[in-house]
Amino acid sequence: MTSRLSNSIADRRDDLIALTQDLIRIPTLNPPGQDYRRICEYLDLRLRVHGFDTHLIRAEGTPGDSAKYPRWNIVARREGKYAGDCVHFNSHTDVVEVGAGWTFDPFGGQQKDGRIYGRGACDMKGGLAASIIAAEAFIEVWPDYCGAIEISGTADEESGGYGGVAYLAEQGWFSPDRVQHVIIPEPLNKDRICLGHRGGWWAEIETKGEIAHGSMPFLGDCAVRHMGAVLAEFEDKLFPAMAARTTEMPVVPDGARNSTMNINSIHGGQKEQAEDFDGLPAHCVPDSCRIVIDRRFLVEEPLDQVRDEVTALLEGLRKSRNDFDYEITELNAVLPSMTDQEAPVVRTVAKAIEQVMGKAPTYVASPGTYDQKHIDRIGKLKNCIAYGPGILELAHKPDEYIGIDDMIDSASVMGAALETLLLPGGGSAGS
Ligand SMILES: [Zn+2]
Repeated sequence: MTSRLSNSIADRRDDLIALTQDLIRIPTLNPPGQDYRRICEYLDLRLRVHGFDTHLIRAEGTPGDSAKYPRWNIVARREGKYAGDCVHFNSHTDVVEVGAGWTFDPFGGQQKDGRIYGRGACDMKGGLAASIIAAEAFIEVWPDYCGAIEISGTADEESGGYGGVAYLAEQGWFSPDRVQHVIIPEPLNKDRICLGHRGGWWAEIETKGEIAHGSMPFLGDCAVRHMGAVLAEFEDKLFPAMAARTTEMPVVPDGARNSTMNINSIHGGQKEQAEDFDGLPAHCVPDSCRIVIDRRFLVEEPLDQVRDEVTALLEGLRKSRNDFDYEITELNAVLPSMTDQEAPVVRTVAKAIEQVMGKAPTYVASPGTYDQKHIDRIGKLKNCIAYGPGILELAHKPDEYIGIDDMIDSASVMGAALETLLLPGGGSAGS
């Protein structure tokens, strides 16, 4: 990268700190989806000053969208002087609930010992701020660049992204004819490139029984015992089969390199007693038991196979177990996404990491999903990665923070990537 650009980014340190603090101080909690309009207006004002054309877009009718909690997004674009590719930085603006255990004000943006603390500091307002600083510095140093730079702030990533990137992709904002390279500054650590994520399949399974007096259970049929048989099948067959399956995807942490399944919840029989009632339960045989499963799968596993594997176990019980009856309802499904390691944005950011950090990047994939799924499946944009500052393990935790030096380093990587992608000769001319 050019020293002019790296100096310009370093000179913006105070601006970067103030910007990050401002973003943290807008409490964009999701749920319910608070202050989305406010953070879009803040970004709108900031980016227009730097020559961006901005669009505020409400994802009307998407899950959670209401008059009280509208799903607002911003897409800002700044054209260069000559034709060329568009590089898009996409950050979600929502943050998860605060939770217990904080020693800092979660929406105070306090700076201490080279870190800025707050809910969303690492996931991912620090990454958003770093991408803005990188773009602004690049524009000042290279006003006559080729192509275009886009920055988006999108809603609802923490709840599936349907009122954010999915909606924008459906409306054509993420499509290969207007965007060529996508960088999502999620907190994957400043020297790692995240190529994609595993798939997810969520389903509810209900076993059915027949209610009867608890003193004569033989007159009814216990749905909880049927569910016990389901869980035993999972323990005996499904979990060992999943543990034996490994992936070529560089998923972190190591445990997520296998297929996994979480049993999210279990409910059977009478409801849990209400808080205002401390009497004894009535004696009944439960006629229904439900579990929710959260199955994460690998790029090597087709979704149909993931579904069929569970259904086959349930059908087996129908044959082997008296009066076994069940229903399965799919709640959601997300396919895995994996960008080729030779894709232009991957090669460019890898080179930028080497330039800035003096070492080769580590390639990773995420155990859970993020907005790349929508950019890939709906937008049909395959040239997409997650790259940004912050420590992944701090996301959603109390006393979440972002390191200021880490933001500067990853802003430098983003700036170096812009030089490669948007300058004639890949930026080598001016170095
Ligand atoms: Zn995130």
